[in-house]
Amino acid sequence: MIYIHIPFCRSFCTYCDFYSEIASRCCKDEQSRFERFASALSAEIASYAGVEAGSVNTLYIGGGTPSVLPLSVFERVVGALRDHGFGGPYDEFTVEVNPDDIVEKGEAYVEGLLRLGVNRISMGVQSFDDEILRWMNRRHDSAAAREAYAILERAGVPDISVDLIFGLSQLSDMQWRSTLRQALEISPSGALPAHISSYQLSVEPGSALASLVDRGVWTEASDEMCARQYDILCSELRSAGYEHYEISNFALPGHRARHNSAYWNHSQYLGLGPGAHGFLDGRRFWNNPSLDSYVQAAAEGDFSTVRGSEDLTSEQVVLERVMLGLRTSDGVDADFLRTHCAAPALASALAAGDLVPVAIASGNIVPVGTRFRIPESRFFVSDTIIAELI
Ligand code: SF4
Repeated sequence: MIYIHIPFCRSFCTYCDFYSEIASRCCKDEQSRFERFASALSAEIASYAGVEAGSVNTLYIGGGTPSVLPLSVFERVVGALRDHGFGGPYDEFTVEVNPDDIVEKGEAYVEGLLRLGVNRISMGVQSFDDEILRWMNRRHDSAAAREAYAILERAGVPDISVDLIFGLSQLSDMQWRSTLRQALEISPSGALPAHISSYQLSVEPGSALASLVDRGVWTEASDEMCARQYDILCSELRSAGYEHYEISNFALPGHRARHNSAYWNHSQYLGLGPGAHGFLDGRRFWNNPSLDSYVQAAAEGDFSTVRGSEDLTSEQVVLERVMLGLRTSDGVDADFLRTHCAAPALASALAAGDLVPVAIASGNIVPVGTRFRIPESRFFVSDTIIAELI
């Protein structure tokens, strides 16, 4: 399982704190900058030749905004993966895109991605309200999101996921319901998107939004409002036939994201690119978030200058397995919880209905009581429930 971080965006969104550099359309050197990045990434891939990247056969190219890259860069990256023992076909190969790139580059670009083995596209739509999109400093408007979706469908992308954001103080419940309905109706063919991810807006330190809050220019939505909008999200998507398989993720039957599901199962993965994180052999590692240092490390043939790592203690492993697993509808193995949680805390969570037995996991009926999960109605307060348990 491989994650590749693409450190470029055309502009920065108000709420975002992911590592990224501005990629300018006007800059004549942009193409050579992308090529330098591709060379450095290929060198990093080569540096891992022979390493076992976990048992899950997926590739996820995220960012940043991968869709700012030309197809030639994707070709080089996929070629480097193949040449160093990480080649496809992958069970799932996802690329994140922004709607405006898809509208600008059209069907031929998407077909090029499909030829490289991409079989899933995750598109950051975020809202269908143009005023809110402008406030978010997104580059696209709602019409572009619809047009991009139509292009992805016409090109034959088998799996499309749409990202949405709720919990903004200026987003009314009515607008949120309307956003969800427009997401469900985004396809000109009338088909539902295979997958929807929806995140509550959070104020990340260092983001433009954090400075708006600090200056008193913008106020966060109340917990009550966020909880209400989360309920609306759950009920609208449940009625439309989606399976709510992780706190922020909804899939039509058979369309769960395999790559992200593997994160929640605490699977091993290789993280590549500046700012990427990975997890191999009980060790977390990461590349510093600096494109220049990354390119320089590649030129010097020594990535150790930009890589950090830490061994997870057994307590950290338990904590992560419980925290990640209880985010999902499959929950966590009951014996694992009995072994690692204090008996009174576990008994009290079960008595209060904060944890319930899982009847169906991954489509297979398993004996009731072998796994415990947080029920959907309490997903919104899962952080509190998990904190009580561990
Ligand atoms: S949300 Fe996506 S497009 Fe916006 S700045 Fe962050 S990584 Fe870039």
